[in-house]
Amino acid sequence: MSSLPVVIIGSGLAGYTVAREFRKLDTETPILIISSDHGGFYSKPTLSNALATGKTPASIVTASSEKMAEQLKLTVLPHSRVTAIDPPGKSVTLQNRERLQYSQLILALGADPIRLPLEGAGAEDILSVNDLDDYQRLRRTLEGKKEVTILGAGLIGCEFANDLTIAGYRVRVVDISAQPLGRLLPQAGGAYMQRRLEAAGVVFHLGAATQSVERIHESLRVTLANGDVIQTDVVLSAVGLRPRTALAEAAGIEVNRGIKVGRSLETRHEDIYALGDCAEVEGRVLPFVMPIMHAARGLAATLARIPTPVRYPAMPVLVKTPACPTVVSPPDAGAQGEWLVEEYVDGVKALFKSRDDKLLGIALLGASTKEKNALAAQLPAVME
Ligand SMILES: Cc1cc2nc3c(=O)[nH]c(=O)nc-3n(C[C@H](O)[C@H](O)[C@H](O)COP(=O)(O)OP(=O)(O)OC[C@H]3O[C@@H](n4cnc5c(N)ncnc54)[C@H](O)[C@@H]3O)c2cc1C
Repeated sequence: MSSLPVVIIGSGLAGYTVAREFRKLDTETPILIISSDHGGFYSKPTLSNALATGKTPASIVTASSEKMAEQLKLTVLPHSRVTAIDPPGKSVTLQNRERLQYSQLILALGADPIRLPLEGAGAEDILSVNDLDDYQRLRRTLEGKKEVTILGAGLIGCEFANDLTIAGYRVRVVDISAQPLGRLLPQAGGAYMQRRLEAAGVVFHLGAATQSVERIHESLRVTLANGDVIQTDVVLSAVGLRPRTALAEAAGIEVNRGIKVGRSLETRHEDIYALGDCAEVEGRVLPFVMPIMHAARGLAATLARIPTPVRYPAMPVLVKTPACPTVVSPPDAGAQGEWLVEEYVDGVKALFKSRDDKLLGIALLGASTKEKNALAAQLPAVME
């Protein structure tokens, strides 16, 4: 067996989960995790409900990089950025120019928050949260402040809106779409979510593009394209993520929206794989926890030389908005069919059905979430 390590770039959920799964199959092969961040293990989804659950940035980290190294019998290089990959030479180069050889290489690089091209000098004060360091910055900025404006009414925007409201902040949410969670929920579901969040204190500015952010002394002035002006203390952007593809692309690894991989998470380069938020698995970018768990299990077996294509079952997503508990599994892009919606005083049940009556998607809000298990069991696998 090769004494060269399996090298994993990235210490997020994808990197650590594949390492943990691989260790269950192979206790000997050295594993090296290289990470540009602190290398500690934490649950990223906690970041958008930490205020309500009383967690501090420090308490969110459940194991330091040293602890992870000890637990999983591996080496972690925290605060180390990989600047280049050499596929023919089977090596990576670090920022300090050190070159490290690998036997197999896993790209678990995550994604970057998208930044809107906004006018105004205040635009550089806009925060976004996609990792613990970002979250620490947000918590510091919030100290002594009252008003928060969130750009983006998607999953992360709505979760932060609810969390900040619970903690006593006055929250506004701006989105170009006419409803919250526009990409995930049918119209009635979005309207229900909006009503529940409004009842919790959130003010929505929908169908409105953000034009500029100016700094006026201690506060920020957000101007929308419809002429509305919002005076606020903090602006948090939650308009989406873009898979980190630059490192792979520079090495000649094929990228599209994400780093392109096949069913075994393999790139076209021998012994180079990708998973998690950076990867596009047979055309799908699925930046959620459940796909990572399934991908990591399959990939660990493949790394242990038991080729195992990834299989994704239906993977409904739980939206962490206590004001409006929500479970959603949207139909595949391009699926033919329609949403059949039942509206109740205390919830919405929406089923996306094909013309031949097959259940292809669900959106359950409020009291209807109690049907989650029964309905999710009827959904088709995302990838057989
Ligand atoms: C606020 C928030 C709430 C969420 N809530 C949910 C939820 O409720 N349910 C759900 O399913 N999903 C949720 N998600 C999504 C989920 O958390 C992510 O899909 C998952 O954590 C991504 O893990 P990852 O390992 O792919 O990426 P990341 O965790 O981003 O890890 C990427 C790693 O790569 C490292 N890295 C990048 N480039 C380099 C380089 N050149 N050299 C060295 N290291 C590098 C980074 O430092 C980092 O360690 C949420 C996401 C956010 C932001």
